[in-house]
Amino acid sequence: MSDIALLPEVRAFLQQGHDCFINGEYGRASGPAHPVVNPATGETFAEVREADPAQTDAAVNAAHHAFHGTWRDMAPLQRGAILNRLADLIDQHGEELAQLETLCSGKTIQLSRAFEVGQSSHFLRYYAGWAGKINGETLTPSLPSMQGERYTAFTLREPVGVVAGIVPWNFSLMIAIWKIASALICGCTVVIKPSEFTPFTLLRLAGLAKEAGLPDGVLNVVCGTGACGQALIEHEKISKVSFTGSMNTGRKVGAQAMQANLTRATLELGGKNAAGFLADIDTQKAVAGVMEAAYLHQGQVCAAAERFYVHRSRLDEIVDGVAAQLKQLKIGSPLDESTDFGPLSNRPHFEKVSQYFASAPDQGCEIVHGGRALDRPGFFIEPTLAVADRRDATLLQEEVFGPVACFLPFDDEEELLTLMNDSPYGLTASLWTNDLSRALRLVPRIEAGTVWVNMHTFIDPAVPFGGIKGSGIGREFGSAFIEDYTELKSVTVRY
Ligand code: NAD
Repeated sequence: MSDIALLPEVRAFLQQGHDCFINGEYGRASGPAHPVVNPATGETFAEVREADPAQTDAAVNAAHHAFHGTWRDMAPLQRGAILNRLADLIDQHGEELAQLETLCSGKTIQLSRAFEVGQSSHFLRYYAGWAGKINGETLTPSLPSMQGERYTAFTLREPVGVVAGIVPWNFSLMIAIWKIASALICGCTVVIKPSEFTPFTLLRLAGLAKEAGLPDGVLNVVCGTGACGQALIEHEKISKVSFTGSMNTGRKVGAQAMQANLTRATLELGGKNAAGFLADIDTQKAVAGVMEAAYLHQGQVCAAAERFYVHRSRLDEIVDGVAAQLKQLKIGSPLDESTDFGPLSNRPHFEKVSQYFASAPDQGCEIVHGGRALDRPGFFIEPTLAVADRRDATLLQEEVFGPVACFLPFDDEEELLTLMNDSPYGLTASLWTNDLSRALRLVPRIEAGTVWVNMHTFIDPAVPFGGIKGSGIGREFGSAFIEDYTELKSVTVRY
């Protein structure tokens, strides 16, 4: 097989050289230019300019004006209808968006189609379904009446205002949609900043949102690095920050938001997620489970597992089974539809992951498969399988955010729980067993925001998602997002 041909629309969009979308118009920013590099070749194919402080200010002002002018007071069902139209447009322009995403991130084209496009429109439609269902409640005041007067009370759920969204490079459209859809359906307006590595899908989305009928200023996009993100967070008209990224940046973002204006912030951060395989698990299921948990998008998935604790009696056969599967993976160009495994998304990340793999043998790990960068242009590194000889091995402690499964055997359930909870992070975890009673007894003792049983990396808009410990603050999806994007106003009436 060979690379698919790029659509003319993709080339045309890149040639237009947009680098911001403010108040319903594409524009050129005037800050420093950042190269946008194709991870499959290592070559720069476009550049994007950083929004300067005046442009960030204009974007926030546009969002503030649109919040007070139209969006907050629009009938919820009309807001829902616009989100549904945007979902339809994402589907209609799916191939264009998927190609833009693959060019920037190195995600295989099949994954870009299924996740960035397919999941984005599913999530949008899910949130659109909340239109008209975001309500307060009626309450019965509890204190006794003094002179026969009576009281009744109710709460209102009011949109918080302008939301600053900041997203990472690993799922640049889907994660942006999580934030945009939650904010918009609650009646908030948005200024969002993509990662400097993957700016184009989100820029393209902004034009589609306008076509879907979103009023000018409701969704604005500014591009740039952390400096642009910081200016956005610290703007006085920002009422909420919704951040997804690494734990280190998340700490800074939380502090910036708090310092700026006591601005509320939700932080969806990294993970060092564990999977525990009990002695009774079928080998085939376990091997397929490791492949699902560790290697999707070259392991650059926040929910992916990197720590694999396997009952000692089963370790060898599961490790052998995974190694055999890894040998079959077709590594290659992400624009080739037959490719299973593409490059890492950018050079700094490639260098960081390469360093982890090179030092693994000195840090308590034997590399059983992979571990090397490929001798070809671009940021390719082999899918990697390691077995640790101690629980504090670096590959069992630090988030690599790359294609690695690191194994360690355990002997009993108490030891398994200790190992699974031995992390500063707490995003996701999974248990693998045919004995559901045992699994359900263990689930409450696992320190993670999401625990899966006999599955991993499955995210559904109806099920809340977010981390505990160093993996963050707040939840997306389900009804949990409503807390984050609305203020609760209490109204009490004497009669
Ligand atoms: P990152 O923290 O380096 O960057 C994330 C975003 O923050 C980017 O847009 C970046 O430009 C911006 N940024 C950087 N410094 C900033 C600052 N001081 N102020 C404001 N914004 C700033 O993360 P990354 O390398 O892009 O993404 C990988 C990380 O994201 C991993 O740790 C991964 O686990 C995590 N992640 C978490 C989730 C989740 O839902 N919990 C989902 C995806 C990725």
